[in-house]
Amino acid sequence: MDKKDILSYSYEELLLEMESIGEKCFRGKQVYSWLHEKLAEDFSQMTNLSKEFRERLNEQYEIKKMKTAARQISRNDPTEKFLFELADGNRIESVLMRYNYGNSVCVSSQVGCRMGCRFCASAIGGLERNLEVSEMLGQIYQIQRITGERVSNIVVMGTGEPLDNYGNFVKFIRMVSDSHGLHISQRNITASTCGIVPAIRQLAEEGLQITLALSLHGSSQEKRKQLMPVANKYELSEVLEACDRYFESTGRRITFEYSMVKGVNDREEDARELSAMLKGRNCHLNLIPVNPVKERDFEKPNRKNALQFKNKLEKNGINVTIRKERGSDIDGACGQLRRKFAGSEKEK
Ligand code: SAH
Repeated sequence: MDKKDILSYSYEELLLEMESIGEKCFRGKQVYSWLHEKLAEDFSQMTNLSKEFRERLNEQYEIKKMKTAARQISRNDPTEKFLFELADGNRIESVLMRYNYGNSVCVSSQVGCRMGCRFCASAIGGLERNLEVSEMLGQIYQIQRITGERVSNIVVMGTGEPLDNYGNFVKFIRMVSDSHGLHISQRNITASTCGIVPAIRQLAEEGLQITLALSLHGSSQEKRKQLMPVANKYELSEVLEACDRYFESTGRRITFEYSMVKGVNDREEDARELSAMLKGRNCHLNLIPVNPVKERDFEKPNRKNALQFKNKLEKNGINVTIRKERGSDIDGACGQLRRKFAGSEKEK
C-alpha cells in the first residue's frame, strides 16, 4: 500500500486523521507542529512522541522529501536559485531573494506548464503534472532548512500556472499562512496568473488576502493573443472584469505584470493603450524587461526605451515600476534552470 502524503494534510484534516487511527487530539497537534513549524524531515525526530507511535506513523505515512539537485548563488545580488528533485525524479525550481524587508521565495506550482506563453521557458516542454500541496510547501521548508533563514514573503511566480492547479494552490496558501505552521501573512503573498477567468472569479470568493498579479503583456486583445495563447480562450475585457471583482471583494490592489518585448509591445502606441486601459483602476503596473530565453528570439528593450515607456505611463497617472532584475546570472527567469539541466542530460 502506498504511504499517505502526510505533509498535504491541513491542520484540521491531520487532527481528524490522527483521531481516526485512535490517537488523542493533542497528538495530532504535536505531529502538525513537528511537520510545519519545526520542519522535521523524519518521524524519528519527533522525540516527544512514543517510539511505538513514531513507528506506526512511519508505516502508514511518508514525509515527502526533495533532493537539492543544484544550487546557484548569484554574484550580483543576494539571490539563490534551487533545483529540487521530487520523489518521482521530476525537477522543479525555486528562487530565494533577500530584500531589506525579509526573505522572499518564488515558488513553482506545476512541473512544466501548459499555458504556452511565447516568451516563457517553462512553457517549452508543456505540462508534466501538478504539484502536490506538500511539494509547494516543501520548496519553502527546504530553503529554510538549507539556509537557516526565515522566509517572510512568497511569490507564486515560478514554473506553472497556479490557477490551473487550483485546489492544491489554495490549500497551499491556507496552510503556509496557518498560525499552526509557518504563519506567513497572506498580505506578504503574491500569486501570478496568466488570466484564467473562472478561476480568478472563484479566488475572489475564497476570503483570502493575497495579492493577485495578472500577467497582461499586451495592451489589447489582439496583442495579448500574439504572446499568450490563453488569450484565445478569454477576452481581455473579461479578464479585467474578473480582476475588478477580485479587488472589490478582497480590497487587495491588483498588480499587472507587463513583460516588455522589443518591437512587439514596447512602442508608443502600446504605452498609450495601456494607460487608457489602466486609468481609473486602483492597481500597480510592473514592467519587466523580458528575459531572453535561449529557445526564443525575443529581445528586451534597451534601458532608455524602457524608461521612456515608464515615464509615459507615469504622466498618465499610472502607478508603475520597472522590476529590478535579480539573479540574471543564475538563469533567474522562470524555467530557465530546469531547461538547462534537462538540456544537459539529453546531451549526455
Ligand atoms: N503562470 C503564471 C505564473 C508564472 S510566470 C503567470 O503566467 O503569471 C511569472 C511571470 O513571469 C509572468 O508574468 C510571466 O509572464 C513572466 N515571464 C515568464 N517568462 C518570462 C521571461 N522570459 N521574461 C520576463 N517575464 C517572463
